[in-house]
Order: sequence, then structure tokens, then C-alpha cells
Amino acid sequence: MAMLPKTVFAARNSIKSLRTGVQPGNKTRLVVETSLRPSYSLSYPQNQLVINLSNTSANTSVTPSLASGTLVKSITQKQVGDKLQIIASLTKPIDALDKNQIMILEPNGDNEYRLVLDFVAGSGAGTAKKASNQSSASNNSSAKKYIVVIDAGHGGKDPGCIGKNGTKEKTVVLSVARKLKAKLDANGFKSYLTRSGDTYLKLAARAAIGEKRKADLFISLHANANPSRSMKGFSIYTLSEKASDEEAQKLADAENAADKIDVSGFEQFSKDIRIALSSLQQHAVAEMSEEYANGCARAFKGQKITQQPGPDVRHAPFAVLRSTVPGALLELGHLSNATEEKLLNSSAHQNKLVDAIVKSVKSYNFDV
Ligand SMILES: [Zn+2]
Repeated sequence: MAMLPKTVFAARNSIKSLRTGVQPGNKTRLVVETSLRPSYSLSYPQNQLVINLSNTSANTSVTPSLASGTLVKSITQKQVGDKLQIIASLTKPIDALDKNQIMILEPNGDNEYRLVLDFVAGSGAGTAKKASNQSSASNNSSAKKYIVVIDAGHGGKDPGCIGKNGTKEKTVVLSVARKLKAKLDANGFKSYLTRSGDTYLKLAARAAIGEKRKADLFISLHANANPSRSMKGFSIYTLSEKASDEEAQKLADAENAADKIDVSGFEQFSKDIRIALSSLQQHAVAEMSEEYANGCARAFKGQKITQQPGPDVRHAPFAVLRSTVPGALLELGHLSNATEEKLLNSSAHQNKLVDAIVKSVKSYNFDV
């Protein structure tokens, strides 16, 4: 289907409600409920938190519902051209919000879309500095570099799946990972490889590299095998405790099998992560991963790369994705299919895959 530019027919967003509440840990929660998925940016003028909503009209009939004991004194709406500013006046300065303090919730029975921001009083000292960094981020090459960790699946004693003509998954994905790193770095990102050679690395260790590097995005690269030699195409997965379908579960079992040797280490790591993350943060990471994965599927299709039949994004409990870093696992194609085995080995096709992934990273909204 031909995609029309989004802006041409985009319906205008509108405010449904504005409210605050207190969360455990004396956090202030600010909720902006909107009719459509909000597209926003944040700024931090003196003792204010300003949410700039794109393509949104003011709705003066909405009276903010303000809980007592929060940092928010008042909330006002200000139309600035196409944008609506939601200005929260604060009793104390706050630091710039990290993405794990922000989430967008899907509509449910009682609510429409909700942009949810959680924050506490900040040092204030860093506020001005962070705000000025942020404002220059969009048009200044000295802006913060987003960090991407690229994980080439398998390696060393674990070859991954093997094609009919002997191509090893571990070799193909490492080659793509190296090319991807070079191209992402050339595009202004800072990327790291979990492995740069033919080495074996446990799944938890790969996820831990994402944490250690404070990555903004984690991309795990794999290639697939299917009992049916005719099965072709890429597929994209995000983490979920429950698989979206039986095939996704089987795939996760196969990919996780690499770690069967040391399950206890993984379980401990996974537990630490669970404790470290509130359910709200886990939800935010899942939302961001989903957003990245959908953009990635679009980018692959845009490059005319064959897609495996099925939904754009599937979900399964992949051990390598268990962390606080948003990310996805990409099955780049089927080594069990002779045509795709040949393609996956070719430099031209690897470059095409890399171009699609670079595009997906560039279009990902890191600030959400
Ligand atoms: Zn694999």
C-alpha cells in the first residue's frame, strides 16, 4: 500500500483530561490524556515542566485535576501555532526527565491515550544545563550521541543455525553487526558490539553490556531456520513473558537454548532487573521496544526485504532482551532457505539489511 505523508491527513489531537497524583517514593505523576497517540517534546524553563504536543488544539473546557502533595502547583494550556504547550508550574525545580520516567499508555476501557510523567524534586543545579543541552540537541552536531548496542547472536562453540550449504548464523550476523556498527557510527550514533569476534557469550552477559554501556537501544541480530525449506523472510521480535504465537515461543526456546549451560546466572540477573525496575518502567521499556520494532519492520519493508508471513512484530521471552534497555531481536532471514542463504552471504544484501536497520534507528524517537 502506498504510504501518504503522515502530516497531510493527520487528524488533530485534543486534550481529554489533565491530572496529577502521588506515586510511591513521593513521586509526582502528571497525566495528559489525549484522543490520539501524543507526539511530544519536553522543556524545563525555571520551575516549570513544559510539554509541547504536536498538532494539538487547546481544550479550555478541561479543568486540571490536581492532587495535593505533588510538585505541580498549576497547569495551563497555551496554543503556539500548531503546538499546544501544557505548562506545569512547579513548587521545586526538577531535573530533565529520563525516558524511563515517561510512558505512553494505550487506550483502555476508561481512558484514551495517556502521556504519563513521573518525577521528583531535583537538585536544580543540573536543570538549566540539561535544558540548554536539550534545546540545542535538535540542530547541533555536538548533541548527545545516542548509544546503540549491537548484539551478533551466537558465536564460538555455538554456531546458531546452519544453512544447507553450511553457512553459519554466527558468521552472517557478525558480518552484518560489524557493518551496522560502522554505518551507525558514521551517522552520529555511538555503537558497541557485544562480540567483535567469533566468541561465545552468555545471553545475560550480552544484556548486561547494554546496561553497562547505558545503551538507548539494543539490537540483537539473528538468522532463522525452519523445517520448511520454502519458508523465507525477516521477522522482528520484542520481549514478552508470553509468546504471541507458538512459532515465536519455539524460536525463543531455540535462541535461549544457547544458555542452558548456565541458567542460574541468568535467573539471578533477571531477578535483579525485575527488582530494579518498577512495573511502570518495565511498561515504558516495553512500549519503546514495540515502537522501535514497528519502525524497524517499516524500514525493512521500505527496503523491499522479504518479510516472513505474519504480523510485523511478534513477542516472545527472549533472554537476551531482558534488561532495562529498549530493543528488539531481528531474524534477518532464513538460512534454511537456499535463496536466502545465498542472499545472507552476499555483501550487497548485508548492506541492504544494514541500510534498513540504520533507517530504523534514525527514525526511532529516542527522547520518548
Ligand atoms: Zn539465533
